[in-house]
This record gives sequence, structure tokens and C-alpha cells, in this order.
Amino acid sequence: MPVTSSKARRAESRDQAPGPVPQRTRLWLDFVNTDTASQPPGGDLLRDFEALLTWLQSQDVVDEERAGGIRRRAVLQPAAAAATLVDARRVRAALRALAERGQQVERVRDDALIEINRVLGRSAGTRRLDPMPGGGFTRIFVPTGDAFAGLMIPIVESAADTLIDKELGRVRRCADPRCHRVFLDGTKNGLRRWCDMGTCGNRAKAARHRARTQGSA
Ligand SMILES: [Zn+2]
Repeated sequence: MPVTSSKARRAESRDQAPGPVPQRTRLWLDFVNTDTASQPPGGDLLRDFEALLTWLQSQDVVDEERAGGIRRRAVLQPAAAAATLVDARRVRAALRALAERGQQVERVRDDALIEINRVLGRSAGTRRLDPMPGGGFTRIFVPTGDAFAGLMIPIVESAADTLIDKELGRVRRCADPRCHRVFLDGTKNGLRRWCDMGTCGNRAKAARHRARTQGSA
């Protein structure tokens, strides 16, 4: 998983221009939020293999060089690319279930574990420690053999980290019933309810305000 350079560059530029503290997020939850439930009607972000690859690139999971190689292979083997997309959606569905009900339902957790281990188990590769520009080190997973097979590794590893770190209890679905986005509640008190205060949180605030003013009228 060549995640080094662009992410490190971004971290560097963030250091130079301190902005608002980014909300804690997790790759696997962002991946779940690409699905039709989270997007406007009919709007699966992973509508085709190219969209999947572009999304992985946007998350620094796949670098440009590797993406170029994968694109060339996708042209030569469209059926394998299509199967990879189907598989990615399958992983995503299992991870949505894990995010929404994994904490409460053991069976859901077990099913997600099977999916995670299915992905981890079939991908061969090596690991490498790389220095990052600006200092520090990062561990990289370098898939060998089937280039398509390794694509889901960083996603499921991110979900695995959440389970290992006992963070699943902090994964929530947005309190707005129309919104299906999932997020990690990184607040100290663990009372965050909305995926985003700017959108869903604001809507709820406005609705409460309306209810109050109508009630007192
Ligand atoms: Zn929301």
C-alpha cells in the first residue's frame, strides 16, 4: 500500500498552515460512506471500476504509478476489473453492517470478521518500511501477483484496527434518519450524534428551534 509521498506532503503543508483540527476519520468508514445509502438517490460513488480506483487514489491508498498499471490491466482484463468492483461492494456491505450493528450484534461482527479475513487471507504481498519526506517512517504493503486483489487490503486493515483498538463502540450512524453516513465519534464525552455539524447537525438545530418557537407561539 504505497501511501507515503502525497499524504506526507499534505501533512507537511498542514503543519505550515494550521487550520481547524480535522475530524478523526477512518478509511473504512469513508469507504462505507461511498454507498447508495449515503449518497443522493442513485448515487453510488463506486459506479464503475474506474470510480473505485479514483476513490482509492483520492485516499492515497493507491499512488499514481500503481494506478496507471492497474488501469492498463483493467483495459486488458475488463472482466477481472468488473469482478473486483463487485467484490469491493461486497466488502463495503459487510463493513456497513459492522459499522451500524457490529457493536450490538455478535453475529454481524462474526460475519464482518469472515469478510475481513477473506480479503487478508487471499492477498499475497510483502511489507516494507519506508522513510517519509519530512521525517518519520511508514509501513507499506506491497502486493505481489494479482494487482486487483490487494486493493481492498488497506480498507479492511483500517476496519481491523478499529476492532483491535476497541473503537467499534464509537462508530455511529448519523442521528438524522435521512442520512446513512457512518462516522467515528472522537469526542471526549462520546456524545456526537451527527456525521457533520455543518449539514445534518445544523438541520437538527434549526428543527429544534422551529419546534421551540412554534410551541411558545
Ligand atoms: Zn448526517
